[in-house]
Amino acid sequence: MFSGEFANALKKCSRIYLSVGRSLKHLIQQPGSVLAKDASPPPPPIVRLPVPVQRPTVEAATQAFGQIHNFIFADQPGWQLVQNESSSSKKANNNNTKKPSAKRQDGGDGVVDAVQKVVSPEEDEFYTDLHKAAEEGQADKIIELLDAGFNPALSDVRGRKPYQLAQTKNARDAFRTWRGAHEEDDDLCFSWEDSLIPEGITDDTLAAKQAKEKEKQAKKRARQKAKKAEEKAKAEAEKKKEEEAEAKKKAAHPSQKCDNCGNVLPKKPFYAASFAYCSTECVREHKRKLQLARFS
Ligand SMILES: [Zn+2]
Repeated sequence: MFSGEFANALKKCSRIYLSVGRSLKHLIQQPGSVLAKDASPPPPPIVRLPVPVQRPTVEAATQAFGQIHNFIFADQPGWQLVQNESSSSKKANNNNTKKPSAKRQDGGDGVVDAVQKVVSPEEDEFYTDLHKAAEEGQADKIIELLDAGFNPALSDVRGRKPYQLAQTKNARDAFRTWRGAHEEDDDLCFSWEDSLIPEGITDDTLAAKQAKEKEKQAKKRARQKAKKAEEKAKAEAEKKKEEEAEAKKKAAHPSQKCDNCGNVLPKKPFYAASFAYCSTECVREHKRKLQLARFS
């Protein structure tokens, strides 16, 4: 078809809006087609149709054609456009009269006020189904609408992009997963930057994320292990220190006899000052003896 009856018409197009699934796109650009990438003369730019088309019927195509012709492509949200328009018309008024009357000013700002007062989504014609799906956190619906050609870079009347309305991680991930799968698509009618959808999620980034998480866990385990080892070493050092002190005291008592009763010291003698005893009883008794000796 693209090399037959439509070929000449297609060659004359300055831009072609297309609604076609990824799996079928290659058929349109296959060799011999006037839309093939290496065709001569070069084919007109193909752009994804920025409106959803359900079934490829003549009615749907006619409707899409009508919609395309009614589009105003703008980077600014609707109310900003109105604001710019009214401020420029105000400027025109200023040129005519040195002092604009209060009445005129009201006329200019009134439009903006009225638009900004539109807050309910039902009244906001810039609030798309994609905004709604995002706000309601319907991840599957988000993917479905993006696949159908909904533009995630369009702002509602308050300047909000669909992604900004996604409250749940699930909904945000839906946008990012779709971006991951369509990152390199060359027929998108918007820029990723404008859509405010951050870095796309792909199998690669998921794997990288998992690897990172794994690494993090391993590091944590290593830290815990090191801490445990440190504590163990500390405890061992303390124990060694105690044992050394004990040994030193033992060495100071070569006789190995109680300083109170003269009995052989037990395996774990009691020490007080520079003395060694066989029991706590002997510790107390010797203490009394020493005190008495001081007074006598
Ligand atoms: Zn004793």
